[in-house]
Formats: sequence, structure tokens, C-alpha cells
Amino acid sequence: MNETTLLQVSGLKKAFGGLVAVNDIDFHIEAGEVLGVIGPNGSGKSTLLNLITGETKKDTGAVKLNGNDISAMQPHQICRNKISRTFQLVRVLPTMTVEENVMVGLLFGSERKNFNECRDEIARLLSTVDLGEKSGFLASQLTYIDKKRLELARALANQPILLLLDEWLAGLNPSELEESINLVKRLQESGITLVIVEHVMHAIRSLCDRVFVMNLGQKIVEGTPDYVLSHADVVSAYLGDESE
Ligand code: ADP
Ligand code: MG
Repeated sequence: MNETTLLQVSGLKKAFGGLVAVNDIDFHIEAGEVLGVIGPNGSGKSTLLNLITGETKKDTGAVKLNGNDISAMQPHQICRNKISRTFQLVRVLPTMTVEENVMVGLLFGSERKNFNECRDEIARLLSTVDLGEKSGFLASQLTYIDKKRLELARALANQPILLLLDEWLAGLNPSELEESINLVKRLQESGITLVIVEHVMHAIRSLCDRVFVMNLGQKIVEGTPDYVLSHADVVSAYLGDESE
């Protein structure tokens, strides 16, 4: 492990009954990196994120954050260690306002703020995700894209050092996609290390320093986006091997 390694995952495994969703995965993330994780549907990407955040408990292996194994911790403890995430199926608190959703992240996150400290921070976070005009809306009234933005603002309220985005760019139109890619770039520039699970290959190419590919729970190829996306094993994992 290098001095700059933020997260080190080793021998991580999780089976659901007979199905091994994550099968002996090793990888590391250097501080400041954007790491992409790609792979066909069902290849274990979301399960891998759930194992890092503690929502799913591992069968075997270790997840070390700055050298400390966090894999036995509860999700709220992992969150307070400054790992934040968004969900593949967007999760907001529907009966609360936009502002209140972000406040939840501030009141219960890693650097618990008091009520007064929250005001300025909420405004700053909502403006970061371009939701400043909608702070009084009920979360349930937001469009799909705005719900995703809100979920990101709540994740950022936790002051993450590591942010995990599970298909956060899915379902955006081309101009929203460019805006969102730029937003993710700004997050990286602000010092947040990112793991991006994504099917939008254009985003993978423009954002990621390094990518690895999962197939059937295993890591099959790793390298720069250009290397990985032109690799024959990756193409056949996505398209199926027609010779079989
Ligand atoms: P991906 O995010 O790459 O599409 P997932 O991690 O969601 O893949 O799923 C990997 C495999 O694990 C799939 O076959 C899925 O059906 C299975 N799986 C995921 N979560 C559960 C669960 N809670 N219980 C049973 N099987 C699950
Ligand atoms: Mg998934």
C-alpha cells in the first residue's frame, strides 16, 4: 500500500445463496483519483459499493480506509468516516423539503453541524448542484434529475473524502450530461476522491484516471479508460462471446 492509498480492498467476497455477486475482488484507490467501475448488468458493481458502505456485509475480505479496516462497521459509522454515496435507484426523503433533505446530511453526517451553522452550508451545497432555486420544494415534487442532484447535495453535506456514485449520470440528456460531468470534475478538483459506477462510456473516458471492469463478480481488466474500453475481453463481456 502506498502512502497515498485512500482505500484498499482485498479478497472481498459476497454470495447471495449460491450466487457469488462479488468474487474475491482486490483494488485500491489513490487519494484524489477518479476510479471508474464498469461491467454488464448483474456483474456485481452495486454490491461492491454496498460492501464498501456497509449496507451489505462481506463474507470474507477487507476494506481499509487509510489503513483501518472498516468492513465490520455499521453504515452510519462508515458514513462518519467520510465515505458518502448516491444510489442507483435515487433515494430522497420525499415528504421533506429540498433544504431539509440536505440538512439531514449536515445534522447527522461526519461533522455534525448545529442548526444555525446549517443555513449557509445548505445554500452553498444547493448552489453546487444547481438546486438553489428549489430549496423550498418538497423532494417528491422534483424531477428525476433534480432528485439525483439533491441526493448528491446530501452526500456532499457529509464532507466526504471518498464519494461513490452508482450510475449517477444515467438517464440524463446530452446537455445535462455535459453539465453533470463538469460538476463531477469540480468535485474532484475540490479534493474529493471518487468511485464512479457508470454505463455512460463518454463520461468514463472524460472523468476517470483508471477503470476496472467487472464480469460475473470478478475483476477482469484494469487500466486507463482507452486501454480498458478497447480490450477484447471487455468487448466480449458486454456483447457476449458469440463463439460459445
Ligand atoms: P450490478 O450493479 O453490476 O448490475 P448487482 O451488484 O446489483 O450488479 O448484482 C449482482 C448480482 O447479485 C445480481 O445477480 C443480483 O441479482 C444479485 N443480488 C444483488 N443484491 C442481491 C440481494 N440483496 N439478494 C440476492 N441477490 C442479489
Ligand atoms: Mg448496479
